Amino acid sequence: MSGCIFCRIVAGDAPSTRVYEDDTLCAFLDIRPITRGHTLIIPKQHATNLDDLDPALGAAIFTLGHRLAKAVRRSELAADGANLLLNDGKAAFQTVHHVHLHVVPRRHGDRLAFAKGFLLRRPHESDLTAAAIRAGLDRLDTEERDTRA
Ligand code: 5GP
Ligand code: ZN
Repeated sequence: MSGCIFCRIVAGDAPSTRVYEDDTLCAFLDIRPITRGHTLIIPKQHATNLDDLDPALGAAIFTLGHRLAKAVRRSELAADGANLLLNDGKAAFQTVHHVHLHVVPRRHGDRLAFAKGFLLRRPHESDLTAAAIRAGLDRLDTEERDTRA
């Protein structure tokens, strides 16, 4: 959709630090992260909010969120958990009107750092962070392959 920043990112017309991409989804670092590795997962096809989203795509978005939450635990970010959050509509503080799921890595005892990150929202070494998350996804793939073998 013209004028939508996330559609521009999908089209490659606006910059982003990508973490994952397939035919239907794209995941990239939030430009104003709350914690290191804060990632947004979006459908490539524009959907303004959940009213507008194909439920199958919603399921795929959550599946990827699940994988990213596991990947950041297995990455150099050494997360102990993650907040997965989707703000649906202006009433729910949605500010970019293209559906997105936030994956915010968390660590034990990070309450103060989280509060500070929430106020400052400064990027942290984006390329290194994205590479660490991709490595975590690779580790997860290997672990799942080994479990199946
Ligand atoms: P919302 O409040 O709509 O759930 O969150 C929108 C998120 O998108 C915010 O966390 C904000 O920092 C992020 N964001 C807004 N514009 C851009 C952008 O151009 N690039 C990236 N990577 N993130 C963005
Ligand atoms: Zn869009």
